[in-house]
Amino acid sequence: MGGFYTASGRPGKLIFLLSFLPPFPILSILYTRLNGGIMNKGSLLIHNGHELDPATGALGVTVYQTSTFYRKDMTGKQTQEFDYSRGGNPTRKALEETIAILEGGAKGYAFGSGMAAISSVIGLLATGDHIIAPQDIYGGSWVIMDTFYKRWGLELTLVDTADPENIRKAIKPNTKALYLESPSNPLLKITDLKACLGIAREAGLLSIVDNTFMTPYLQRPIELGADVVVHSATKFLGGHSDVISGLAVTKTAELGQRLYAVQNSFGAVPGPWDTWLVIRGIKTLKVRLETQQATAKRVAEWLLTHKNVTNVYYPGLENHPGAEVHRSQSSGPGAMLSFKTKTTEQALNFYSRIKLAAAAPSLGGVESIASYPVKMSHVAMAPAERERLGITDTLVRIAIGLEDADDLIADFDQALS
Ligand SMILES: *Cc1c(COP(=O)(O)O)cnc(C)c1O
Repeated sequence: MGGFYTASGRPGKLIFLLSFLPPFPILSILYTRLNGGIMNKGSLLIHNGHELDPATGALGVTVYQTSTFYRKDMTGKQTQEFDYSRGGNPTRKALEETIAILEGGAKGYAFGSGMAAISSVIGLLATGDHIIAPQDIYGGSWVIMDTFYKRWGLELTLVDTADPENIRKAIKPNTKALYLESPSNPLLKITDLKACLGIAREAGLLSIVDNTFMTPYLQRPIELGADVVVHSATKFLGGHSDVISGLAVTKTAELGQRLYAVQNSFGAVPGPWDTWLVIRGIKTLKVRLETQQATAKRVAEWLLTHKNVTNVYYPGLENHPGAEVHRSQSSGPGAMLSFKTKTTEQALNFYSRIKLAAAAPSLGGVESIASYPVKMSHVAMAPAERERLGITDTLVRIAIGLEDADDLIADFDQALS
């Protein structure tokens, strides 16, 4: 329990008392169960050591809306856990420990956005280092590596990670990191994470996986061999389209120490309220994702039958080329899908006619969201490059929300016909 002191330098009465009591019994029972690995992943979303505020017993984590903490001792003899909120805050700590437990890593770190998390992790690399990333990497991650970090001497090679051999071929003497996403955005291409992460380990590379589309509820990259997992917590983890946030988890405590140095000095940290929103969102991840995934399967199957749809991309469809690999590394196909219409006009009409899905960027909210990759996530990419990757003007990406499947299908039908 962190020391909470009053301005007089004496512990607050309640906290003072609590510090002599054994921790709340429910807490210790849960920790024991956790350490024994008995709990299933759904329970873990709720019971991960942060179901009670240690200071008051409140059911849930408190928002510690503070920038700084009373310094008990100026001699430097006594250390204290919290000092200044850029370096650490109790609300943020709860989220950081939660995501570390969920991903099966040693240390978790929270950031002000997914891009802040990704940028901070890339900040582990040095001038002259070479990184290999997927050619269909999230647009923002590509921009930060190809512009900002390029100016600082980072070398980037984009490869088609659907074939792990392309990674082996791209490794050079200065290659230091491998960055992966599976399924990819927006075409839901599957990368064999285990095979690719194995190649990274053999070559001594730092391996990073963006797990935003799957969340630890469906896929746990550290178990598949990743060193670092990153998230846009803005999406499924937050889950309500009301917060921008990012997370990173390291496999080892040593790597965590290095990332903590970046987090604390770079300072791209989230505020306590945003942190709390993500903590709250995570509690309902199972019910949201299970429902969204079941609806996504139905919508994908229905889209296959539509006369104005030429292609459907969803890893839960048997005809998806990566379906088998995806099944081997995750416990479900998720709630993201995309499709192509016959003509550009049909795609544009779809966005203007849909009523239930919001035409917007982002994903993972309770409402379905339809985004237009050529004008949103991939707008910064040269048109010829987009065309080469199959990101065409006819491509529609849908993040399935919590509406009833029948209503979504009826809405999409009127928008497509
Ligand atoms: C949204 C997203 C990001 C960036 O996260 P922000 O929270 O928007 O900064 C990174 N990766 C993927 C796969 C995303 O969908």
